[in-house]
Amino acid sequence: MAAGSAIQIPSRLPLLLTHEGVLLPGSTMRTSVDSPRNMQLVRSRLLKGTSLRSTIIGVIPNTSDPTSDCDDLPSLHRIGTAALAVQVVGSNWPKPHYTLLVTGLCRFQILQLLKEKPYPVAEVEQLDRLEQFTNQHKSEEELGELSEQFYKYAVQLVEMLDMSVPAVAKLRRLLDNLPREALPDILTSIIRTSNQEKLQILDAVRLEERFKMTIPLLVRQIEGLKLLQKTRKPKQDDDKRVVAIRPNRRISHIPSTAEDDDEEEDHDDVVMLEKKIRTSSMSEQALKVCLKEIKRLKKMPQSMPEYALTRNYLELMVDLPWNKSTKDRLEIRAARILLDNDHYAMEKLKKRVLEYLAVRQLKNNLKGPILCFVGPPGVGKTSVGRSIAKTLGREFHRIALGGVCDQSDIRGHRRTYVGSMPGRIINGLKTVGVNNPVFLLDEVDKLGKSLQGDPAAALLEVLDPEQNHSFTDHYLNVAFDLSQVLFIATANTTATIPPALLDRMEIIQVPGYTQEEKIEIAHRHLIPKQLEQHGLTPQQIQIPQVTTLDIITRYTREAGVRSLDRKLGAICRAVAVKVAEGQHKETKPDRAEVSEGEDCKEHITEDAKTESISDTADLALPPEMPILIDFHALKDILGPPMYEMEVSERLSQPGVAIGLAWTPLGGEIMFVEASRMDGEGQLTLTGQLGDVMKESAHLAISWLRSNAKRYQLTNASGSFDLLDNTDIHLHFPAGAVTKDGPSAGVTIVTCLASLFSGRLVCSDVAMTGEITLRGLVLPVGGIKDKVLAAHRAGLKRIIIPRRNEKDLEEIAVNIRQDLTFVMASCLDEVLNAAFDGGFAVKPRVEHLNSKL
Ligand code: ADP
Repeated sequence: MAAGSAIQIPSRLPLLLTHEGVLLPGSTMRTSVDSPRNMQLVRSRLLKGTSLRSTIIGVIPNTSDPTSDCDDLPSLHRIGTAALAVQVVGSNWPKPHYTLLVTGLCRFQILQLLKEKPYPVAEVEQLDRLEQFTNQHKSEEELGELSEQFYKYAVQLVEMLDMSVPAVAKLRRLLDNLPREALPDILTSIIRTSNQEKLQILDAVRLEERFKMTIPLLVRQIEGLKLLQKTRKPKQDDDKRVVAIRPNRRISHIPSTAEDDDEEEDHDDVVMLEKKIRTSSMSEQALKVCLKEIKRLKKMPQSMPEYALTRNYLELMVDLPWNKSTKDRLEIRAARILLDNDHYAMEKLKKRVLEYLAVRQLKNNLKGPILCFVGPPGVGKTSVGRSIAKTLGREFHRIALGGVCDQSDIRGHRRTYVGSMPGRIINGLKTVGVNNPVFLLDEVDKLGKSLQGDPAAALLEVLDPEQNHSFTDHYLNVAFDLSQVLFIATANTTATIPPALLDRMEIIQVPGYTQEEKIEIAHRHLIPKQLEQHGLTPQQIQIPQVTTLDIITRYTREAGVRSLDRKLGAICRAVAVKVAEGQHKETKPDRAEVSEGEDCKEHITEDAKTESISDTADLALPPEMPILIDFHALKDILGPPMYEMEVSERLSQPGVAIGLAWTPLGGEIMFVEASRMDGEGQLTLTGQLGDVMKESAHLAISWLRSNAKRYQLTNASGSFDLLDNTDIHLHFPAGAVTKDGPSAGVTIVTCLASLFSGRLVCSDVAMTGEITLRGLVLPVGGIKDKVLAAHRAGLKRIIIPRRNEKDLEEIAVNIRQDLTFVMASCLDEVLNAAFDGGFAVKPRVEHLNSKL
C-alpha cells in the first residue's frame, strides 16, 4: 500500500503475538488481547505512549503468546506486519482484556529479538518499500503483465457484485486509484481465504510471487460467485444480497466475530430495504414516512428494541399491496352457472348475489351496500362468499370477528406499544397480496365490546365507502385505500349487530334447509366431497337416500348441513378402514356378507379371537363392493340414534303443548309443560326464562282466569278462580338454554287450557304467536325457520298469527303441502284448533239472555 511505502517504520518494534487471523498490509483487524505479555504491551506502550511512533507495533501472526510470564517465548513467525494501533478498548468482563483495532502498514522481518520481558521487542527490517515498485525492475515487463491480469480479475470480481451497494461502488473506485502493487494484499483480505492462505501471502515478500499466488484465489472466488448466482437465479434480490455481503464487510478487513458479521449483514439488509421502498408503489405519503423511518433505522444501533420494531414496520409497508390488484373477470352467465354448481337451493340468496354482481358489472364500482348474509350455522354463508370471489377471479380472505372485543383488532395498535401489530384488515391485505380481494367478515353479530373500545365502530370506517379509501390503521399511521376491497359479512342474527353497522349493510336472510333440500345437498355436494377427501369411489360405497334421511332425522337436528357433513365424514372414515382392509386381504377366501352392519358387528365381537387365532378369520374377509350403508350400518358407525320422534309420547297427558321457537341456530320445537297442585295461588316458572317470556306466562294465566267461566275451566275444587288454593308450575324443558321472546304466549295458554280442562292437546299441532290481555294473537318473527322445524319434527298442523300469513309465501311449496296452517287472530281460534273437536265456548247469547 502507498502508506506502507511512505511510512518509515522504527527499526525497533514491540511485538504483538497473535494466533487468530492474519493482518495484511492495507487492511484492518480487530483482535482480542488477554495474555500477559500482550497485555503488558498494550498497557505500557500503547496506553502510555504519546507519540505517533509509539502506536506502531509489530504484529506477528501464527504465534500464541504463552499464558504465563515465566514461560519462554515460542519461536516467532519470521515475517510480521507493522501496524498502527487505531483503537484500544478495555473490559473486565468476563476477564480483563483489551480489544485492539490495528491497521496493517507494511511487512517486516525480525532480525534479532532484543528482549522478551515484559513484552518482546525486536530489531526489524522493513520489507515493502515504494522504491521496490517504482524502481526500474529487471522483470518489470513480466510484473506488469501479472499486475494487469490481476487487475482484470479484480475488476471482474467486483463487477459481479451489486454495484448499487455503496461499499461495492467504493471498492470499484479504489481498484483504479490504488497502486496495483497494493492490490494483492487488500483483495486477499476481502475475499474468502483461509488463515493459511493469508499467511502464505504475507510470506510472499517478492511482489511477483505475491501476484502469482493471489490470482488463483481470485479466480476461485469468481467461480464461486458464478455458481452462487446460477443456483440462486430465481431469487435475484437475495442473491445480490448474499454476494454483496462479503466485500462490503472486508473493505477494512476485520477477521470478524460473529457479531460483526451480523451487523454488516443487517446493514446490507437495510440497504436492500431502502431500495425496495423506493421501488415499491406505495402512496406518496407512505413513501415519505418510510424514508424518514429508514433514515432513523440507519442511525439506530441494532441492539435497540426500536430497531426491530421499525424494521418490521418497514418490511410490512413494502409487502403491502399498495397498487397490486387482480383483474376482475365478471360474466353474469358464468357466475350464475358457478353459483348453481356450487350450491343447491338458496334461490333468493343467489338471485340477490347475481343482481349485485350485475350492477357491479354495469357500473364498475363498489359503492353500494355491503351484503350481509344472516342465517343459522352451516347453511352455506361462507361458502357463497367464497364462490363470489371465485366468480370475480379475486382473492378470498376470511376475517373471523367472533369474540373480537378490542378495536385494535380491526385498526391495529399504535407503534408505541411493545408487540404492536397491524389490525386484521391490513394483515389480511398482506396475506392476500392484492388490494382488491373479497373479505368475508364472519360473525359480525358476535363482536364484543370492552374497555379497549368498540370494534364495531372501527368496522364502520372500514365498511363505509365514503371513508374507506383512506382507512388509517394505527400501526401503519398512513392511509390505505380499501375502496377496491369487496366486503361481505355473515351473521347468525341481526339482533346483536350494532345498529350503526346494520345500517351500512343489506341483510339477506339465509334460512335453514328442508329435509328434501338437505338430501339433495348431501347427494349433490357433501357426499362426493367426502368421498374425494377419503379417497373413496362410488364403486366402493353407496349411501341411499333413505339412509341420508335417517341421518338427517335421527342423528342431526340443525338448520344447516354442517353436522350432516360431519356424520357423512364419519361414515366415509369407517368405510375407508373396511376398504383398506379388504384390499390388503383380497386373496383370502370369500364369504357373502348379509350387510355391512352385520359385518361390523362381527368385526367387533370377534376382534379378540381373530387376533389370536389367525388371519383367515372373518375379520379378514374383503367386504362386498360397493359397501351399502343401511340403517344397521348407520347404527354401527354412528351409534344409536340421538333424536327420536318423541312428540306423540310427550303429549299423552293434559298440560303439555308444543310451541315453536326461533334461535340463531334455526327454528326449534319447544314443549311447554304445566302442572297444578294445592297451594296459595302461586305461579312457578322454570327453564331459564327471560323477562318477556315470564310476562307472557302471567298474561296467559290472567287471560285464562278472566275467561274461565266462558270455557268452563275450574280448579281442583271446582272453583272458576283457577288460582284459588292452587299453585301452578310451568316448565320449559332444556333448562340450560335461556329462552326469551313473546312468541310462546299462545302455547302457554293452550298448555294451561289443557291442564284445567283435562283435555289432551292434539299431538300433531304446533303453534306460535304473541298474546295480549284481551286475547288477541299478534304476529311474531322467524316464521320460516319455525315452520321448517315443525316439519322436521314431523308435525302436521301449525297455528300461526293471521298477520303472519304473508310469511308463508317464502316456504317451499312441497313443505306447505305437507302441513296445514291455521291462521289465528284471537285465542279462541287457537284453542279451537289445538284441541280435537274444538274447545267449546259457553255461548255468549245465553249469558246475555240471563242478564236480560
Ligand atoms: P356457514 O358459513 O353458513 O356457517 P358454511 O358456508 O361453512 O356455513 O357451510 C358449511 C358446509 O355446507 C360447506 O361445506 C358448504 O359447502 C356446505 N353447504 C351449505 N349449503 C350448501 C348448499 N346449498 N349447497 C351445497 N353445499 C352447501
